[in-house]
Amino acid sequence: MTVLVLGDQLCREVGPVARRPDERVLMIEATEFGRRLPYHPHKLTLVFSAMRHFRDALRADGRTVEYRQVERFADGFDDHFDGHPGDDLVAMRPVGDGATRRLRNLVGERGGTLEFVRDERFLSDPATFDEIAGAPPFRHEGFYRAMRRRTGYLMTDGEPLGGEWNYDDENRDTPPADYDPPDPPRFEPDELTRSVREWVDDAFMASEETGWPDTGAWADPSPFAWPVTREGALTALEDFVTHRLPEFGPYQDAMVAEEPTMNHALLSPALNLGLLRPGEVIERAIAAGREDDAVPINSLEGFVRQVLGWREFVRHVYRRTMPDLASANQLGADRDLPGAYWTGDTGMRCLRDAVEGVRRRGYAHHIERLMVLSNFALLYGVDPAQLNEWFHAGFVDAFHWVTTPNVIEMGSFGAGVFASKPYAASANYVDRMSDFCGDCRYDHRETTGEDACPFNALYWDFLDRNEDRLRPNGRMGLVYSHLDDKDADELAAIRERAREVRRRGREGEL
Ligand SMILES: Cc1cc2nc3c(=O)[nH]c(=O)nc-3n(C[C@H](O)[C@H](O)[C@H](O)COP(=O)(O)OP(=O)(O)OC[C@H]3O[C@@H](n4cnc5c(N)ncnc54)[C@H](O)[C@@H]3O)c2cc1C
Ligand code: SF4
Repeated sequence: MTVLVLGDQLCREVGPVARRPDERVLMIEATEFGRRLPYHPHKLTLVFSAMRHFRDALRADGRTVEYRQVERFADGFDDHFDGHPGDDLVAMRPVGDGATRRLRNLVGERGGTLEFVRDERFLSDPATFDEIAGAPPFRHEGFYRAMRRRTGYLMTDGEPLGGEWNYDDENRDTPPADYDPPDPPRFEPDELTRSVREWVDDAFMASEETGWPDTGAWADPSPFAWPVTREGALTALEDFVTHRLPEFGPYQDAMVAEEPTMNHALLSPALNLGLLRPGEVIERAIAAGREDDAVPINSLEGFVRQVLGWREFVRHVYRRTMPDLASANQLGADRDLPGAYWTGDTGMRCLRDAVEGVRRRGYAHHIERLMVLSNFALLYGVDPAQLNEWFHAGFVDAFHWVTTPNVIEMGSFGAGVFASKPYAASANYVDRMSDFCGDCRYDHRETTGEDACPFNALYWDFLDRNEDRLRPNGRMGLVYSHLDDKDADELAAIRERAREVRRRGREGEL
């Protein structure tokens, strides 16, 4: 009997690795996956270094770990079954679509068996979600409230703590001009991480013919600083609840130039690799709220909603809607991603800042992802699947189960399985929530003309182009009434400007 630990299940506290302390552990490090897309070097460093640190931590505890470094996953099983013919494997159920079947086949073809047990890295199981959420379209708010009731998090006598389920109204502030958010922690790479980082540059620079820029060649990485161990992840959690949680809520939607992290948690890579569990993250935040009067309920609830609500929700949406979700494209968007997403070379200040964050750190915070990077692609008409691949390649926290629902559905309104309307906004939104526009080559108040912000014409053109599908949506009534106020000349000028913006996007002149 062997416990199989997959690369995003680096958790010793739960699952078969915890329950079967005397069994041998198998881990397979397959480099093939790192060549499928031109991944940011930090993403590859993070995954491989975290896996190797996990192996070493288990060995330090006296566990037997067979760590197979191979090109393809199948090669790892070949080696394993050469040494242990007919072995029986047990693993936590993977989240990726079709992974259970693929792994079972690989093991079965080599004469072994593979049993999957409950994935304990999440707070909700499939039956719970299916019972609460029913059939599509799924709605987050009902799921989140049910999860609050079931877990008891932020509840008192069966009612939400503070009297409200949601404090969004208090979470849309923009900081003062001299606002200086706390510096995020840096995790200095140890020798193992440094060697992985160097190996990543050697092993993954040359890509196969993916049609994308060469692996690694598009990124402009700053020094690697993500936590790669359980201890580092716990330190990152402490740092967040101590320094950034108090102002997480009010500035949750704010964007400030040169402040790529604001008060965000920076915990998604550790959570997605299994180094942290969502329950302990939420409980630590709630404890901090009890210990420290400086943590207001709007910050605490805002954070809990992301982890207990959204993170769990998208995981199940993925499970219920794949494989269709990955190729969903209900608006028929088919344009290529502008080159500026790879180069950062654009006069659009907001886009440049967000892309630079990705090129340097493999990170942009939620509002940059949603209201700049995917909003612009949505208005421009980028093929959602292509945008999804860009997010996958670029972000350190990108795993198919979480990136796909966020990009295809939340960002691109690809399927209508949970978004009730597209997250489409003009420069008004960016101007209200950021300090980008004052320092931009474009004018956020203009819709047409050489200096007009590209978001504006694209926004009206998007509504115009997708009128048949979007106008009947009750939540779009107000925006369509504004479109109706535009006369034929205005609309013609908007369409012309939108064409020009797309031409510039194609030719690298945005
Ligand atoms: C277009 C788009 C793409 C995204 N791609 C990813 C991705 O590849 N991987 C990923 O983990 N998240 C993704 N998200 C969700 C969210 O933006 C990130 O989880 C968050 O920005 C991570 O940074 P943080 O830890 O500082 O998060 P915070 O803003 O501090 O939030 C705290 C935690 O809540 C969870 N969370 C918040 N929102 C979401 C959400 N919508 N879906 C899932 N978890 C959520 C994350 O675990 C996060 O660590 C995406 C969102 C959008 C709009
Ligand atoms: S003017 Fe337009 S492109 Fe420039 S920062 Fe504002 S929203 Fe972005």
